[in-house]
Amino acid sequence: MPKDDTALPNNIFIGIGSNVGDRLSHLSWAVKRLGLFDELVLHRMSSVYESEAHTLEGSENQDAYLNAVVWLQGDISPVRMLELCMALELERGRARQEGMEWEPRTLDLDILAFDELRLMTTFLTIPHPRLSERKFVLAPWNEIAPGFIVPAPFGETVAELLTKCEDFAGLEKTPFQLLD
Ligand code: ATP
Ligand code: CA
Ligand code: CA
Repeated sequence: MPKDDTALPNNIFIGIGSNVGDRLSHLSWAVKRLGLFDELVLHRMSSVYESEAHTLEGSENQDAYLNAVVWLQGDISPVRMLELCMALELERGRARQEGMEWEPRTLDLDILAFDELRLMTTFLTIPHPRLSERKFVLAPWNEIAPGFIVPAPFGETVAELLTKCEDFAGLEKTPFQLLD
């Protein structure tokens, strides 16, 4: 669908994170590239936050993340959206290691929500199942879409989820800009 078409049916929220290398440049690059895909337009983007890494118990501490959330609109399927996210992660040099969870990464793009959709397959769960436990997701998301009702199993607005979130890991809003 051409970019100037006014019927852009899908509202898609993407959480972006990086904790390796030039973190801000990874985030900015990802936002720019998402907006360049024919199927997508960049509707809004949050400030950039810095967060303490959430790691698995017993694993080594990791460097802090930069995080942001972007609101895209487009005419795209959820699976295609995941493919685009994974292609960008790979292009930015993210190395996936078999069996490694929550490893350091140049770029992580998670589909947080996709309209009112609820989807559970082996490779894609929407809304993102851990979003309500993460202030580094909810705080930036709340800046751009506080009233968005996150579909089941959450069934509450982003603002409500943020108020209830018990994530005590360090989180700070930075003065960095995603696109200059
Ligand atoms: P977390 O999902 O807890 O944030 P992570 O981002 O580190 O962890 P990854 O290694 O990036 O996890 O992704 C593992 C798999 O998660 C991907 O291969 C993808 O198929 C799957 N996945 C399931 N649901 C989603 C989603 N909503 N957004 C992105 N990836 C998803
Ligand atoms: Ca993630
Ligand atoms: Ca991910």
